[in-house]
Amino acid sequence: MAVSHLQCKECKAQYPLEAVYVCETCFGPLEVVYDHSRTSGDVGELRRRIQGGPQNIWRYADFLPLAGGPPGPSGRLASRVGLPAGCTPLIRADRLAERLGLREVWVKNDAANPTHSFKDRVVSVAVTRARELGFETIACASTGNLANSVAAHGAALGLDSYVFIPSNLEEQKILATGVYGAKVVAVEGNYDDVNRLCTELCAERDWAFVNINLRPYYAEGSKTLAFEIAEQLGWELPDRCVVPVASGSLFTKIARGFEEWRELGLLEGELPSMNGAQAQGCSPVASAFADGQDVCRPVKPDTIAKSLAIGNPADGPYALDLARRTGGGVDAVTDDEIRAGIKLLAETTGVFTETAGGVTTAVLAKLAARGDIDPDERVVLVITGEGLKTLDAVRGTFETHTIAPTVDAFEAGVPQTVSV
Ligand SMILES: *Cc1c(COP(=O)(O)O)cnc(C)c1O
Ligand SMILES: [Zn+2]
Repeated sequence: MAVSHLQCKECKAQYPLEAVYVCETCFGPLEVVYDHSRTSGDVGELRRRIQGGPQNIWRYADFLPLAGGPPGPSGRLASRVGLPAGCTPLIRADRLAERLGLREVWVKNDAANPTHSFKDRVVSVAVTRARELGFETIACASTGNLANSVAAHGAALGLDSYVFIPSNLEEQKILATGVYGAKVVAVEGNYDDVNRLCTELCAERDWAFVNINLRPYYAEGSKTLAFEIAEQLGWELPDRCVVPVASGSLFTKIARGFEEWRELGLLEGELPSMNGAQAQGCSPVASAFADGQDVCRPVKPDTIAKSLAIGNPADGPYALDLARRTGGGVDAVTDDEIRAGIKLLAETTGVFTETAGGVTTAVLAKLAARGDIDPDERVVLVITGEGLKTLDAVRGTFETHTIAPTVDAFEAGVPQTVSV
């Protein structure tokens, strides 16, 4: 088992591997520390062991914070886990690249997870750790996708689940949560109100709030996106990643995943330039980046990208530091640009993403138009969620041709491409 202890990101105080998340001394966030002295060794052998693992995130068990260690040959660990997340497609997107004047663009389609967003990665890890720690109830403060995933994992593992969401969430996301039998609590307020309430409840109840008291473990799940991208590129790093930013956890942990594998010799070369993507209606990190600030000023969210609507991002300062030290950035796009981003991705790749993916695609288009991307770069666009969950974003953006069932009506009513 490579996991060693928890450590404060600020003052480096050490804590045991329990359900704790904030430093008692300086109130900094806690993070998992590993001891890879037994993991390291022959790179070829390490790669072969990963490649021989299960077709889900547990192939990276050596780099995840579980007491159980790597999975056995019979998939023993897999049976502890319930819903397999990860191993989603990395698609070469030549038509998108051409539209943007770039050479090599890849789409990492994390909508292809059990509950159709990247949240299944973080929830799998948090819930598995919660079971190791003996919790019987799981819970979360969610902007939507986390609710879907916690409810589904609760159902798969027979744990009680309570999900707290802002009451104005998209109907699709509420329905796709309640169906699993979770207790759905719609809070009259925005995500930051939901999070505050859950932090209070967390102090009073013996529940595993996946993104509060289990947050150090939860966050580690996002590293698996980096591992997969590198493995799917043939053990190579991309030159640039464009990633959506809500709390900033996904953004910073993708980079951490690349770094960890570089330290072990599994990857070589420089860390990719990391570009964060936010909606203008909730862009505390992009604003701080533009203003040259080290910390974010909290905002009240107002955007169609509800899954990214966190006005007070916990990992904001770390996201800013990462963007600056990798030569990346953090940009914001308007709701109209988000809708156009969804359409651009759908029409050039066949991937239909939710509003968060519209944000990411629109930021990529903006970077390309601004000339920030060298045409020879290998760029990975991280698509984190499914278009069917935010259908309102595309309503009215195209025409349906309704006709009587006759050839005449078809010829009169439907414009046709003229073939020569
Ligand atoms: C939660 C979420 C994110 C990013 O979350 P972080 O809090 O920044 O880790 C990105 N995309 C989608 C679709 C999400 O649901
Ligand atoms: Zn501390």
